[in-house]
Amino acid sequence: MASNRKVMVLPGDGIGVEVMAANMTVMEWLAKHKSLSFDVAQDQVGGAAYDAYGVPLRDETLADAIAADAVLFGAVGGPQYDDLDFSLKPERGLLALRKEMDLFANLRPAIVFDALAEASTLKPEIVSGLNIMILRELCGGSYFAEPRGIDELPDGQKKGYDTNAYSTSEIERIGRVAFELARKRDGRVTSVEKSNVMMSGVLWRDVMNALHKAEGGDVALSHMYADNCAMQLVRNPRQFDVIVTDNLFGDLLSDCAAMLTGSLGMLPSASLGAPDPDTGLPKAMYEPVHGSAPDIAGQNLANPLAQFLSFAMMLRYSFGQGEEADLVEAAVADTLASGKRTGDIMAPGCEQVGTDGMTEAVIDAMNRRAR
Ligand code: NAD
Repeated sequence: MASNRKVMVLPGDGIGVEVMAANMTVMEWLAKHKSLSFDVAQDQVGGAAYDAYGVPLRDETLADAIAADAVLFGAVGGPQYDDLDFSLKPERGLLALRKEMDLFANLRPAIVFDALAEASTLKPEIVSGLNIMILRELCGGSYFAEPRGIDELPDGQKKGYDTNAYSTSEIERIGRVAFELARKRDGRVTSVEKSNVMMSGVLWRDVMNALHKAEGGDVALSHMYADNCAMQLVRNPRQFDVIVTDNLFGDLLSDCAAMLTGSLGMLPSASLGAPDPDTGLPKAMYEPVHGSAPDIAGQNLANPLAQFLSFAMMLRYSFGQGEEADLVEAAVADTLASGKRTGDIMAPGCEQVGTDGMTEAVIDAMNRRAR
């Protein structure tokens, strides 16, 4: 069916291929039952692109991704690519997409579904009902800022270094996204840095305070050092609403928050750019937080729910289809409540299923809810 919703699908490697195939079933269901169709283009990225084209991301693929309304991404990587030159590694394809699409805002919700409260390594009373959003700056800081490199020293040693640099405008644009998200949630933002020991952190706090004064009066802003935030996330995670932080701290804190929810296989993410001046829609890529999981790839063991929940975020943030996003999320919750589990979230008394069984169960739940 023709559609003006252009989606670029990039499954990638390992379980990325499996969970994306499962997601296509959900997309087909929406086309059939909700007349919600997408104009889908598909290509290779990561190791699969290296195998096919000799690079982890072709220029043509990048151009198509930029032209699309949204990119739906699986995962990249695998041990067979470990010895490749740094510039050819699968992950370079993902980082290049984020950088070239200028996707500076990474949204990682950490939500504990009632049926999974027992799956967390923390006590259920600490995590049940958890619903927090970690907003990570994605285009600057330690992973991109210059200078960075490995230099030879006169005494024969080497020196490896990275730079954690942020400009006022880089902090302001992520701060604005944080305030915007908080307005649609509980109205609270915790800005996280290490202004006690890092100059980039001093500026981060100053800029956040100035932005709050100028534009964020309707939102409650507080500050926390990153090390304390890591402790608070495992001590009392429900104290947070939106956490906004830089690229490096965000990488660590979002993985920490991930484990509150029980499994990497449950965690979606969205990476957004600036809104398009004509459509108001941001450039956007949606992807599960997990990697390509080479240890279970190709065995029908992957949990597809993080991919489905990433797709639900795409429906909500790129296409304004909140009702359909709610439907996918509710079907995921129903499936978990029914006791179906992939191995990563298996619990006593539940029924273990594979990627295909989990997908069928979600489709069944969507059918029941659509009746
Ligand atoms: P990983 O997320 O792939 O796997 C970590 C562990 O979690 C593994 O035991 C895996 O089996 C399990 N797991 C992850 N997702 C799962 C799912 N959906 N269902 C069931 N179990 C799941 O991380 P890793 O092992 O550190 O990395 C593997 C490869 O993935 C590496 O090449 C790494 O560079 C790459 N990676 C890619 C991304 C990405 O594409 N966004 C993110 C992280 C890692």
